[in-house]
Amino acid sequence: MTGEKQGVYIRTYGCQMNEHDTRKLYKILEKDYRPVDTPEKADLVLINTCSVREKPEQKLYSLLGQMKELKATKPGMMVGVCGCVAQQEGREILKKGRSVDFVFGTHNLSLVPSLIQLRKNGAPPQVAVNYREDWEELPLGFADPDPAQPGKGNHVTAFISISRGCNKSCTYCIVPTTRGPEVSRDIAEIEREVRIAVHRGSREIVLLGQTVNSYGLDLSPRVSFVRLLDRISAIDGVERIRFTSPHPQEVREDFIECVSTNPKVCRHIHMPLQSGSDRILKLMNRNYRRSKYLKIIEGLKARVPDMAITTDFIVGFPGETEEDFQQSLEMMDIVQFDMSYSFAFSPRPGTPAALMKELITQEEKFHRLHLLQAKQEKIMADRLGLWVGKTVDVLVDSPNRLDEASFQGRISQNYIVSFSAPHEGVSLGAIVPTTITAQKRYTLCGEPSLVR
Ligand code: SF4
Repeated sequence: MTGEKQGVYIRTYGCQMNEHDTRKLYKILEKDYRPVDTPEKADLVLINTCSVREKPEQKLYSLLGQMKELKATKPGMMVGVCGCVAQQEGREILKKGRSVDFVFGTHNLSLVPSLIQLRKNGAPPQVAVNYREDWEELPLGFADPDPAQPGKGNHVTAFISISRGCNKSCTYCIVPTTRGPEVSRDIAEIEREVRIAVHRGSREIVLLGQTVNSYGLDLSPRVSFVRLLDRISAIDGVERIRFTSPHPQEVREDFIECVSTNPKVCRHIHMPLQSGSDRILKLMNRNYRRSKYLKIIEGLKARVPDMAITTDFIVGFPGETEEDFQQSLEMMDIVQFDMSYSFAFSPRPGTPAALMKELITQEEKFHRLHLLQAKQEKIMADRLGLWVGKTVDVLVDSPNRLDEASFQGRISQNYIVSFSAPHEGVSLGAIVPTTITAQKRYTLCGEPSLVR
C-alpha cells in the first residue's frame, strides 16, 4: 500500500485479554493503517467480541447492522469480527451479518493482513478460526493506547500475556471452548518482553492469564507462578507487578508469602469468588469452598492488613436460593471487598449451566444484583475513606480524565488518585508520594509531596 495510511477502528468488548488483543491488532496493522476513534472515519472496522455474557453478543449484531448502513455510504470499507464470539460461531457470523468481510479467531490475529488482502483481491468473505498449539508470534502490543478508549492504555503500564486458554471447566463459562486449553509461555520470552517494555518506559507490568497462577504447570520443566514473579521482580526498572486473575484452587502458601513480601508485587489481588454458597460453587464446578477462599484472604490480610481484595460475583445462577444469595452478601461483609464486578447469570450456549433447570426469574435476578451492588457501593465508600489523610506512593500513569493538563495514577492497592492541578514533578511514569485529601465515588484525590 502506498500514500496515506487508511484508518482502522477497533471496538473492544470483554476482558483484559481482549483489550490486549486489540493493542496487538493495532500493532499488526500499523504498517498500513492508522488508528481512528470512530467507525465513520475508518476504512477498516474490527469488532473484538466477548461471549462471556449475553450483552456483548447482542451488541455485535446490532453493531453489524450499523456497519451495513455505513458500508453503503463508504465503498471499499471493510468489517472484520474477532474475539470469542468469532471463535465460537465462525462461519455463522457471515450468515447473520452480511456486512462482514472476514472472521478470525483468538489464535489467528496474525492472519488479519492476509485476510484483508484476500478480500481486496476479490475473494469471498473469509473465516479463520483454527486453534494453534504453539504460541502465536505477534508484535509486542503493550505500549500503545487504544484510540477508541481514551485514557486507557499508556506506556507506563505494560500488559503481558503469560498464558492463554484455560484447563478449568466452570459450568457457566465458554472460555475453555473459545480460547482452548491452557498454554504457558516460555519464561525467557516473558522476561524478554518485560525488558523491552521497561526499555520503552514502562514501570508497571501487568501479567495476564485466564488463571494466571496456574502458569507453568504445562511447561517442562515446570515453572511456578511464584518463580515467574521472582524472576520479573529481579528485572531492573520494574517498579510494580500486577496480575489478573488468580484462581483460588491454585493458591498455595508460597503464593501468599510471595505477594505479601515481594515489595514489587502490588498490594492488590483480584480473585474471583462468584458465589458465597458452597452449594452454588459446586454447581459452578469452581473446585473450592468458601472456607478455602476465606483462608487465603486471612493469610493475605494477616501479613498485609491494607491488602486490597477485589472479586467477581455471578448472581442468580440456576438453583440459587435466597439462602445461597444471602451467603454471597455475607461474604461481602466478612471480606470487605474493595470492589467487585457482579453480573446476573445469563446462559451461554454450549455450557453445562445453559442446560440447568431451576432458573431464577429475571426480576429476582436483577433484584439480587441490585442488593449486592448497593452493598458493594457502601463497602467501597468505607474502604476509600480509610485512605483519606494517609500519604501513599502514586504511580502516575495517565492524563486526568477531566483535566488533560493534570494527571492521575494508582496506589499499590489499585485505587485511582487524581491530582487537582498540574504539579511540578508529577509526570507520566513518576512515583509521587501523595497525601490523600478526599474521596470520590470510586476514586481518591491527592496532593503530591516530594517527587522522586
Ligand atoms: S477459570 Fe472458570 S471462569 Fe475462569 S476462564 Fe477458566 S473456565 Fe472460565
